[in-house]
Amino acid sequence: MNLLSFIKEFPTEDSCRNHFRDHRFAKGVICKKCGGINHYWLSGKNQFECKGCGFRTTLRSGTILESSKLSYRYWYIALHLMSSTKKGFSAHEVRRQLGHKRYEPIWAMMKKIRSAMGRADDNQKLTGMIEFDDAYFSTSTPKGLRKKIKRGKGSQKKSKVTVMAESFPLEIDGVAQRYCGQFKMKVGKSEMKSSTQRLVETSIDKDSVVFTDQSTSYVDLKNLVNLHVSYKSEKQNVDELKWVHIAIANAKRNLLGIYHVIKEKYLQHYLDEFCFKLNRRYNSNLFDNLILSLI
Ligand SMILES: [Zn+2]
Repeated sequence: MNLLSFIKEFPTEDSCRNHFRDHRFAKGVICKKCGGINHYWLSGKNQFECKGCGFRTTLRSGTILESSKLSYRYWYIALHLMSSTKKGFSAHEVRRQLGHKRYEPIWAMMKKIRSAMGRADDNQKLTGMIEFDDAYFSTSTPKGLRKKIKRGKGSQKKSKVTVMAESFPLEIDGVAQRYCGQFKMKVGKSEMKSSTQRLVETSIDKDSVVFTDQSTSYVDLKNLVNLHVSYKSEKQNVDELKWVHIAIANAKRNLLGIYHVIKEKYLQHYLDEFCFKLNRRYNSNLFDNLILSLI
């Protein structure tokens, strides 16, 4: 959706609220009291009423808008900005665009949107052939810890991110190539094997074939998936782990272009936004898709 069609479709608070209500109805409202799924809409009160027990549910209740005081239109403008561009926006920029005084509520709204994006992708495991590699992203260090970091590194440090990509060979006109499917990027809590193990169990289908370089942290992968192939030569790494490397380079360039510094504890949110959009690169209605993931 471009800016003109967004303005045409969502000119007022009511238009945004009605759109949100329709999508909530379409996804299904569940009564907190009796578990009923059939509801009336009380337009004067902006609430759903359970047909079974009469319990009322507000339009925001149970969605990520629940505790937010910001208008539907603010949320919709932020969602439009975040879904209509390949890059992304910082909360500072969105605050400026909205003309809102305070930074915190805008930042909190965008953080919730990014979390919802992450949850939407966490619902699905990667399958088939999967490229798997670790990358190191620059993040800032909390003030109290800066002294402990070695000289020369300043306040910057690197955070480990495990990057996974569905990658399948396809021969077209006699030329063999690798094509990519879905991606995942996860900030590693530690260098420990147990954290890699948990990550693989939650991210990758156990019948998959996983391709890596020779890093020793991957030695236990063979127990977690159908087959683990590790490439010995540098040339194989470049050829066969092509999509994870492209995704890593793009993600780094993307984050660097938008944010001055990133705190490690928020890095996962930015990667979630990056992957959500990357995984829906052929989706013609990213905006509605995003609305559904908030409900
Ligand atoms: Zn009920």
